[in-house]
Amino acid sequence: MKKSDISVVIPIYNEQDSLLELYERLTKSLSNFTDNYDIIFVNDGSSDNSLEIMLGLSEKDKHVYYINFSRNFGHQIALSAGLEYCHSETTVLMDGDLQDPPELIEKLYSKYKEGFDVVYAKRQKREGETWVKKFTAKVFYRLFKRMIPFEIPLDTGDFRLISQKVVKSLNKMTERSKFLRGQIAWLGFNHAEVLFDREPRKHGEIKYSYSKLTKLALDGITGFSDKPLIMVSRLGFIISIFSFLVIIYAIFSHFVLKHSITGWTSLIISSAFIGGIQLLSIGVIGEYINRINNNTRERPLFIVKDTNIKSDED
Ligand code: UDP
Ligand code: MG
Repeated sequence: MKKSDISVVIPIYNEQDSLLELYERLTKSLSNFTDNYDIIFVNDGSSDNSLEIMLGLSEKDKHVYYINFSRNFGHQIALSAGLEYCHSETTVLMDGDLQDPPELIEKLYSKYKEGFDVVYAKRQKREGETWVKKFTAKVFYRLFKRMIPFEIPLDTGDFRLISQKVVKSLNKMTERSKFLRGQIAWLGFNHAEVLFDREPRKHGEIKYSYSKLTKLALDGITGFSDKPLIMVSRLGFIISIFSFLVIIYAIFSHFVLKHSITGWTSLIISSAFIGGIQLLSIGVIGEYINRINNNTRERPLFIVKDTNIKSDED
């Protein structure tokens, strides 16, 4: 693959209705400022006609590349695959459902030219998304910000432009639970933002189910913060002091005051309380262990069925 000025990496999971419009708007937007660009579609196991459309585009346009996964591996992994394959001065990460306007890329690129390694697109308005999603996202990012020791921009998704230096550093981060916006923030570098209004999704259903979103949030937290572990160990410490006092009181009241409480209520409350806290703590620890487990199995992060990118071509 030749070295281009800009590569656009787009994960695609059943986006057949957006692809052609996306391609046309991208081509128009990119050719405004360079002819040396490429568009990399990562087909994340689509079951509709997305792959056929990509293949068609890549045949007629030399700017278009595709990476076809053997199954659905998830959005973050699809982006990471694009990053491994791309080979250019700058790379744009964006969604394939037209919620991220291709027309903004020119602005991102000119900010890069001013000397920023990371130019992220910050959502000013967020239309057509449920209040539950907007609310949970708001709460998550504000919480997450407090848990991590570095700065992360609020109200941004993965839509951004990064320099080759950032791509190279990202490719060196071998963790399997990918949370790219966290990884990029962790890397540091010069950041700048460009504002935009996020449109509602035009076609098809949202592909990020709540279970996928929960996993992403947990990957973010476990990947960048040990605060939950510290919190449960503190909680355990405080509760064990409290329990110890209750034990002393129980012995004292039995042997000295000679009256034992027959209370079932106090018993059931304390055992349910301790039981709940224990399960919660085990759950938190389990989330971390699960990721250690995943990282120790040295499986490839994704499997590529076919691609038209030749990695040895320089
Ligand atoms: N996507 C993917 N694999 C998945 C889920 C989503 O490649 O398992 C892609 C999807 O096709 C889209 C992007 O990731 O291009 C963002 O997904 P979506 O619009 O559903 O989520 P949003 O970010 O809008 O919540
Ligand atoms: Mg979307």
